[in-house]
Amino acid sequence: MSTLNEDQNMKRVLITGGAGFLGSHLCDRYIKEGYEVICMDNLITGDSDNIAHLVGNDRFSFVNYDVTNYIHVSGDLDLILHFASPASPIDYLEMPIQTLKVGSLGTHKALGLAKAKNARFLLASTSEVYGDPLTHPQKENYWGNVNPIGHRGVYDEAKRFAEAMTMAYHRYHGIETRIVRIFNTYGSRMRLHDGRALPTFMRQALTGNSITVYGDGSQTRSFIYVDDLVEGIWRLSQSEFVEPVNLGNPQEISILEFAKEIIDLTNSNSEIVFEELPKDDPQIRQPDISRAREVLGWEPKYDRKEGLSKTLDYFKKKVLAND
Ligand code: NAD
Ligand code: UDP
Repeated sequence: MSTLNEDQNMKRVLITGGAGFLGSHLCDRYIKEGYEVICMDNLITGDSDNIAHLVGNDRFSFVNYDVTNYIHVSGDLDLILHFASPASPIDYLEMPIQTLKVGSLGTHKALGLAKAKNARFLLASTSEVYGDPLTHPQKENYWGNVNPIGHRGVYDEAKRFAEAMTMAYHRYHGIETRIVRIFNTYGSRMRLHDGRALPTFMRQALTGNSITVYGDGSQTRSFIYVDDLVEGIWRLSQSEFVEPVNLGNPQEISILEFAKEIIDLTNSNSEIVFEELPKDDPQIRQPDISRAREVLGWEPKYDRKEGLSKTLDYFKKKVLAND
């Protein structure tokens, strides 16, 4: 068997934010596809447990590093997946400056590296670029409705800037770029206390505590199972498509109905309590995925019921370990 450096055909990918929820699933996928994976993460919201199973694999390496600084990687790179960024509202509200910095400076550094290595660059953007949307469902040609000085603005505007920077590198420097606008994703490796609706409801339901629904729960979201998302990202990274692509599951649900679904799934006796709605919380959110269907031949395979039951065991273990 050849060693890594001798194998000229082996592709190398750098995954920033690779120790996070989505990044670690991407590390798994690109390893499976035969890539050498360099995972770079400063662990501010990630967890080395997410990648512990990859340590020792000779096609995997981990670098503990803050990507808002100059990034050095030795050797060639074929692809950069830029996923570093706090992503849960409680994380980016607690770390507003780091969030702005990783979306702006971090994206600039990662693009600079792509230019130096002549590597393809894929940006993890978000449905949050649409803000509190005034069209429904959201298509990629919608420009969004974001409050730049609102609390959530630190995340939304950082990602909007990151998209603009990505397109500038594409247009001005000819870098091969891809932009994925990710809608609410769930699955194993989410942190129990990350504050997002699903881990919170699972934890509350499995421990018999009250389920905290914010506002009257009429706001909607569309949740996609992580395996479906990873398949879409893989296809986008291999495609020639430059414009942003929505990846999400169009199955939309109100947060109140979602809370009830989790109560049923877990056979819980938990009651629902209503708490104040956070400011600028988007009222509706549903992806139009026609573009992904057309250019990637992709659509989600798992409906919410299937995806949630695949995720339940993971959350049961987390609750037992109180992790
Ligand atoms: P996560 O918090 O689990 O992962 C983010 C990772 O980035 C963490 O491991 C964190 O330590 C790392 N990181 C943050 N700042 C860094 C820095 N300066 N240098 C190096 N590493 C840094 O979040 P996630 O849910 O896996 O999200 C990953 C990416 O996908 C983010 O860019 C997020 O904006 C995007 N996204 C996620 C969702 C979702 O539903 N999970 C939706 C839309 C977009
Ligand atoms: N939410 C809720 N209770 C919680 C956590 C979240 O009602 O304990 C609501 C939140 O206000 C939002 C929706 O659930 O309307 C989804 O929140 P999440 O943080 O998962 O995602 P995002 O708001 O970023 O889409």
